Amino acid sequence: RRVGFAIVGLGQLSAEELIPAARTSRHAAIAALVTDDEEKGRAYARALDLTDGDVYPYERFEDLKGREDVEAVYIVLPNSLHREYVERAARMGKHVLCEKPLSVNAGEAQAMVDACKAANVLLMTAYRCQYTPYHWAAREAVQGGRLGRVKLLDSIHGQSEDDPEAWRMKQRLAGGGPLPDVGIYSLNTVRFVLGTEPEWVFATLHQPKDDPRFREVEESVSFVLGFPEGVVANCLTSYGVHKTATLRVLGEEGTVLMDPAFTYQGLSLTISDGQGDFQPGLPDEDQFGLEFDHFAQRVRDGRVPWTPGEEGVQDHRIMDAIYESARTGQVVRLQPAPGRDVFR
Ligand code: NAD
Repeated sequence: RRVGFAIVGLGQLSAEELIPAARTSRHAAIAALVTDDEEKGRAYARALDLTDGDVYPYERFEDLKGREDVEAVYIVLPNSLHREYVERAARMGKHVLCEKPLSVNAGEAQAMVDACKAANVLLMTAYRCQYTPYHWAAREAVQGGRLGRVKLLDSIHGQSEDDPEAWRMKQRLAGGGPLPDVGIYSLNTVRFVLGTEPEWVFATLHQPKDDPRFREVEESVSFVLGFPEGVVANCLTSYGVHKTATLRVLGEEGTVLMDPAFTYQGLSLTISDGQGDFQPGLPDEDQFGLEFDHFAQRVRDGRVPWTPGEEGVQDHRIMDAIYESARTGQVVRLQPAPGRDVFR
C-alpha cells in the first residue's frame, strides 16, 4: 500500500510539480488536500480521483488526525507558516515532509525538529536536489578523488522576481529574499558535494529600498563559505537577474561543472580531468517523485530520511551567519555542526 499524504497549500509548486509527481510515484499517493480555496481544492481532488470530503480548510487541519490513510503531510506554504503546520502535524502523529527553507531562522527550525522528535514522527526537509542521480554523481566525483584535492567551488542561483506584493518579498512570510529561497540551493549543494561543514562565512548584500520589490528583502547576496583545509566556496544569489543556476568544483586534477545545476529538469553535469570531458548518461528523473518515494519508504521502514529536519536547521544556522556577516561586515565563525551520523 502506498503511503498517503495530505498536501498542505495548493500554490504553484503543489499544482505544477507535486501533484503530477505523486500521480506517478511508486510509494506515495495523495489522499487529502488542505487549502482555503475550496473550488480549487475540489478541482484537484477530482483530478486525483479523490472526493470533496478529502478537501480540508486550514482550520479543519486537525480533522486529518482520524484518517488512518493519511500517514504523512507535505507542507507547501510560505516559509514562516511551516513551523505552525509542522508542529500541528506532529501533534496529530503524522510524519512531515516540509518544503525548503525549513523555516525562517535556526531557532524556529530547531523547534520544529524538537517537536517532531517529541511526537516520535519523522521530519524531512524537501531538498529535492539531494535525490537526483546528477547531484550524487557530482558528489561521487568530488569525494571519490576523481578531481584530486578540491580547492574551490562557485555557485550562482538567481532569477528575476517582478511582483512587489508576492509573499516572497515580505520579510515576515519569507524570512529573507533570494538567500533562503534560491541561494539555499548553492549552500546546500556545496555542503552536499563536499560532505563537510563550513567553519566561517563572509557576506555582503544589496538592498535597493527605493525599488518597491526590495523594501523588505534583499535583492542580491554574495557569500563566501570557508571549509576545512582552506577549501572555499564563492556563492551569488539574486532576485534581479535572468535565471541562472550553476555549480562548479575545482580540484587539482579535474573539475565538475553543472549548468544548469538546480532546475527541475534538464540538469547537466560535465566532469573534466586529464582524460577529457565526460558527461555521464544519467536519467532525467522527476526530482519530486524521487523525493516523495524516499520519504514514503522511510515512513514505511521508520528510518531517518536522508535530508532530515536537522539538515534544514544547519542551512538556517549558516544563513543566519551570512546575514550577520552582511550586517556587521565581519567574518562570522560557525560552531562545529553535528555530523550527519548524529541524525541517524
Ligand atoms: P505559492 O505562493 O505558489 O503557494 C503558497 C500557498 O500557500 C498558496 O496555496 C497560498 O494560498 C497558501 N497560503 C496560505 N497562507 C498564506 C499566506 N498568509 N500568504 C500567502 N500564501 C498563503 O508558493 P510556492 O511557490 O508554491 O511555495 C510554497 C513553498 O514551497 C515555499 O516554502 C517555497 O520555498 C517552496 N518551494 C520549493 C520549491 C522546490 O523546488 N523545492 C520550488 C518552489 C517553492
